[in-house]
Amino acid sequence: MTALLEAVEISKRFGEFTALNNVSISVPKGSIFGLLGPNGAGKTTLIRIINQITMPDQGNVTLDGAPLEQHHIQDIGYMPEERGLYKSMKVGEQVLYLAQLKGLDKKEASKRAKYWFDKLDIGDWWNKKIQELSKGQAQKIQFIVTIMHQPKLLIFDEPFSGFDPINANLIKDEILQLREEGATIIFSTHRMESVEELCDHIALINKSQKILDGEINAIKRQYQNNTFDIGVKVTDEVAYKSFLGDLSNTYNVSKAQFKTLGNEEKLRIEMGSKGSPNELLSKFKLFGQVSHFVEVIPSVNDIFIQTVNQNK
Ligand code: ADP
Ligand code: MG
Repeated sequence: MTALLEAVEISKRFGEFTALNNVSISVPKGSIFGLLGPNGAGKTTLIRIINQITMPDQGNVTLDGAPLEQHHIQDIGYMPEERGLYKSMKVGEQVLYLAQLKGLDKKEASKRAKYWFDKLDIGDWWNKKIQELSKGQAQKIQFIVTIMHQPKLLIFDEPFSGFDPINANLIKDEILQLREEGATIIFSTHRMESVEELCDHIALINKSQKILDGEINAIKRQYQNNTFDIGVKVTDEVAYKSFLGDLSNTYNVSKAQFKTLGNEEKLRIEMGSKGSPNELLSKFKLFGQVSHFVEVIPSVNDIFIQTVNQNK
């Protein structure tokens, strides 16, 4: 897959403090790329470098194969973490003004603004001032301003913070739609668990360093360890107890946490390379009714914690 954006060996210090230490990312064309990591990891610093707001001390960035230059700003839609709109300007006026700064003529800007205001169901805000809107409402305006000129690269820094769950979902859907239409999207978040379904590629950043990156399903496959959550309504207690003893000698067995309405035995079994799920299932069937048999897919958050611990 060809990369739209590549950041190569980026380092950035603020005085004695290293905010980014030799970080590289390669963002495939047409992907949704999640820049994930806790607060203070360096995500915003990297995003600001990509937007030419901050200069790196070391490393370089290319867009479509060309070193970043001033004119590339037109090709990027950027929604900063610190949202900035003119508080006392009317919403509609402001959206048209900012769209024209990005190269749209007034007629086209009006047409697109109307489309987005209808789509996000906020037509009645047109004549309000930004200061009359809530934080989440202002953020919707900022979102429209970011995407309206249809740049090939969209960068959202913590796009979901400040949104309630309904609006966060709305924005998620819009981001998916933008990818369908051909955009490439980078977004950052410290809330890894809530957004992983959105990304097809991720980079995990921790304490100024990239600790893992790649295609999300490939990463998950690598970290998945043939692990299953099993629920069984045991009918033959004695035989089951002895079976469980054997099982614990072969596999890593622990209690599983999942919801059921009955009083099933709940186990998590990590098989690794020893055995297949079908074999396991057929053994359990001998001792009762199997009500639950689900492969455990590691979350990005689990993978993050595991990788951080490995690198200690
Ligand atoms: P993230 O977005 O992952 O939460 P940031 O990139 O904002 O992290 O910040 C990474 C670290 O760099 C933080 O410890 C932050 O305090 C520091 N930092 C960021 N910008 C500056 C700056 N302009 N001056 C000094 N320190 C900064
Ligand atoms: Mg940040």
